[in-house]
Amino acid sequence: MLQLENVSLNYGSFRALDKVSLHAKQGELVVLLGANGAGKSSIFGTISGLHKAANGRIRFGDQDLVGQKPSRVVQHGVLHCPEGRKLFPGMSVLKNLMLGAYVHRRDRKGIQRTLEEVFAMFPILFDKKDDAAGSLSGGQQQMVAIGRALMGRPQALLLDEPSLGLAPLVVKQVFEVIQKINRAGTTVLLAEQNAYAALQIASRAYVIESGRIVMEGSRDELMNNDAVRRAYIGA
Ligand code: ATP
Repeated sequence: MLQLENVSLNYGSFRALDKVSLHAKQGELVVLLGANGAGKSSIFGTISGLHKAANGRIRFGDQDLVGQKPSRVVQHGVLHCPEGRKLFPGMSVLKNLMLGAYVHRRDRKGIQRTLEEVFAMFPILFDKKDDAAGSLSGGQQQMVAIGRALMGRPQALLLDEPSLGLAPLVVKQVFEVIQKINRAGTTVLLAEQNAYAALQIASRAYVIESGRIVMEGSRDELMNNDAVRRAYIGA
């Protein structure tokens, strides 16, 4: 279980997160809905050790993650797939993928096996493994970013806006892959503005506004909530 309890985060005098509490049980797919600037990336950065919470607790299994370096958080099995993908565009697809294993894995055979699993999930990446990552389409680059996170063998995967800037058909493919990863047992926390597609594959969701969780519920509760529909689904 990944659990945040009353987590606050300040950027200087600006309070970006205010007593955020949320959790994802093992194997759950939980969605974070929120407009631009609501604080979704700040939550992920705080979990993954990029930002240090001013208050509160972040637990993953029996580990307390607050104050741990990003490399330690990765070692505990929590992998962050950031908004904007953050690939190395001039490096090959294969090298970008291998970076996901570099921080904490030394088991060459295991790494090779995971690479084969990633190629099985994204056959197009096998075809393009020697191409520069920057030469791929947006959707393919998103697949590299997700594949790189999978190379770290995550127990929990934090996906920040994976559908950003992608064509609708590609968005559908990306969400299918996320669902598949989750069904294989990985806990997923998914931040999205594409609320409809995200809720389709979620079990539960939270709504964040100005750094505060303002609503939480099951997929069906949020799908049928008028305020959520108006603000995030547009129907
Ligand atoms: P987006 O999808 O646009 O990234 P978000 O929900 O992920 O939105 P955050 O990126 O977490 O939102 O930003 C939350 C708030 O914190 C915003 O008001 C943003 O301007 C501010 N913020 C984010 N990073 C910093 C920073 N390094 N320094 C100061 N303010 C920041």
